[in-house]
Amino acid sequence: MDNTQITVTSPLLPELDELDAYLRDIWSRKWITNNGHYHQELEAALCDYLKVPYISLFTNGTLPLITALQALRITGEVITTPFSFVATTHSLWWNGIKPVFVDIDPSNCGINPDCIEAAITPRTTAIMPVHCYGKPCDTKRIQEIADKYGLKVIYDAAHAFGVEVDGRGILNEGDMSTLSFHATKVYNTIEGGALVMHDEKTKQRIDYLKNFGFAGETTVVAPGINGKMDEVRSAVGLINLRHVDAAIEARHKVAITYREGLRDIPGITYFEDMPGVRHNYSYFPIFVDAEQYGMTRDELYEKLKSRNIYGRRYFYPLISEFSTYRGLESATRENLPVAHRIAEQVICLPMHHELGAEDVERVIDAIRR
Ligand SMILES: *Cc1c(COP(=O)(O)O)cnc(C)c1O
Repeated sequence: MDNTQITVTSPLLPELDELDAYLRDIWSRKWITNNGHYHQELEAALCDYLKVPYISLFTNGTLPLITALQALRITGEVITTPFSFVATTHSLWWNGIKPVFVDIDPSNCGINPDCIEAAITPRTTAIMPVHCYGKPCDTKRIQEIADKYGLKVIYDAAHAFGVEVDGRGILNEGDMSTLSFHATKVYNTIEGGALVMHDEKTKQRIDYLKNFGFAGETTVVAPGINGKMDEVRSAVGLINLRHVDAAIEARHKVAITYREGLRDIPGITYFEDMPGVRHNYSYFPIFVDAEQYGMTRDELYEKLKSRNIYGRRYFYPLISEFSTYRGLESATRENLPVAHRIAEQVICLPMHHELGAEDVERVIDAIRR
């Protein structure tokens, strides 16, 4: 039996001769960072692809979160989800903001709008939801609550590259949205990220902030950071952008095969596509009900590993369980029952553009037996 390793993810990589042409051009220009030619070209190309008016590139996906909070002058408390990658909450902590965790909605693993109002206090200034696994949050209800209480909304859209709802780019929601272009994501620039905004003035301010606050040779308008994306990674981004639709289509095929193969296994559930949504198939989470399946999530996870199949328990443990955050009033298990249940049931199965039909069958087979 074939026992080669099946990895959870595999990066979208430019062809070397494609990259070579860009490198030669960058070398001849001798402009290798600081809002260079390809940086500008990639920003324009991404606006087009993502159907957004303004975007600012960053060197990773964490700095745009930190910078968005700075730009909107968010202070006090921010309502957020414990079911995410730690960077979401860390960005609040780095701004001296107190995270307030609320429970999630099992239908999309995003923040549950029904839980938000009870968590609002006079110190609340914003909501930071996550489009978890690229599944759109209930953006309409979140915005209604934000408007009612005068709160800002910053979406961590690190998983939601290219996701559209009824033909509209999901990144247009809220006050700003952030992206990560890390190697493990659907679309990558090796490391990288971006901030999406609605107007030119905000774009200008963000561009200053990601360059130490410089607004000219001798003018510093704010205490900025160094968040700039360089020319080489901008070129990687331009090349990968030409291949990302094919990668998403390949992931879609994997998702279809998983769904067919895993249907009717007692105790195994997964998401179907949502009507009107262009999904990016960034992850394929399954949820293991130990009683019905006859094995716990961790037992299945280990069994897959023993067959050289690598899944990931995204997101376990919850962010609220890490030592920095465990002491917060909102971090208790009683406050987050759904998040805890899902964190104990989830495995993200291998999902990437190079996964062959036989690999997918091997994963299905291991779960079936
Ligand atoms: C990947 C990720 C980030 C951080 O992005 P980096 O590019 O690794 O800094 C933030 N939030 C979520 C939800 C992520 O998955």
